[in-house]
Amino acid sequence: MWAYQHNRHKHFTVHQLAVLSDNYIYLIEDHNSDALAVVDPADASAVRNACKTIKKPLTHIINTHHHWDHTDGNRSLKETFHCKIIGAAADAERIPAIDIQIDESTALKIGDLDISVLFVPGHTRGHIAYLIDDALFCGDTLFGGGCGRLFEGTAEQMWHSLSKLAELPEKTSVYCAHEYTLANLNFAHEMDTNNPDLDLRITADTQRRMKNLPTIPSSIELEKKTNPFLRPLDKNFCLQYATTHDLKSDALTVFTHLRTSKDQF
Ligand code: ZN
Ligand code: FE
Repeated sequence: MWAYQHNRHKHFTVHQLAVLSDNYIYLIEDHNSDALAVVDPADASAVRNACKTIKKPLTHIINTHHHWDHTDGNRSLKETFHCKIIGAAADAERIPAIDIQIDESTALKIGDLDISVLFVPGHTRGHIAYLIDDALFCGDTLFGGGCGRLFEGTAEQMWHSLSKLAELPEKTSVYCAHEYTLANLNFAHEMDTNNPDLDLRITADTQRRMKNLPTIPSSIELEKKTNPFLRPLDKNFCLQYATTHDLKSDALTVFTHLRTSKDQF
């Protein structure tokens, strides 16, 4: 099985690990310091092996939310590396072994990297995303062609969170926490029947998966064009969808209907 790739950004390299059945873990290696941070370490041994390959000790863990498939490696990795664990203040009691509590107002710095914290509730009530230059680490909020389930938040909160991510520059790389893209695009195709960009994406991503390659990272640009949970930003899409499903045509109503339909798909 494919298990590793890396992407070089200007000031850091993202090492991408595939673990469990469909989770991604990202190690962020700063080019200008000794900092090596991991996003959502679901599996401690996979991270330890990656650190050996990179030949650097882990310095930080950053969590997007408290779910076990994002935090299970926290304690074990902290024992090995004495690294600092960073997570949302709103979820401090649910993030294992948290050291540093942050929120959207925090100017987070790891090594030489400036990191913006985005509060994106919906999947869970304390979910946050991390933006480093042109790389977004968004956990279970925005997926390739999809979005997270509403476990603790409302559709309105999730719509607000996704709208916030959609405002990022189009070239922003989207590093989400799961490889759900093909299943998501299958649903998208049912809901968004006349979208050539979506058809192209389905062809390209199906080919990638047939070669055991990841479909992630995607980009904000591609998600805006093809992700049904961002398509309500387009007024024409809303009008068409609302007519088909006999709804009011405002974006939140359309989004809410899409999210409910996906749960039953
Ligand atoms: Zn989750
Ligand atoms: Fe998850």
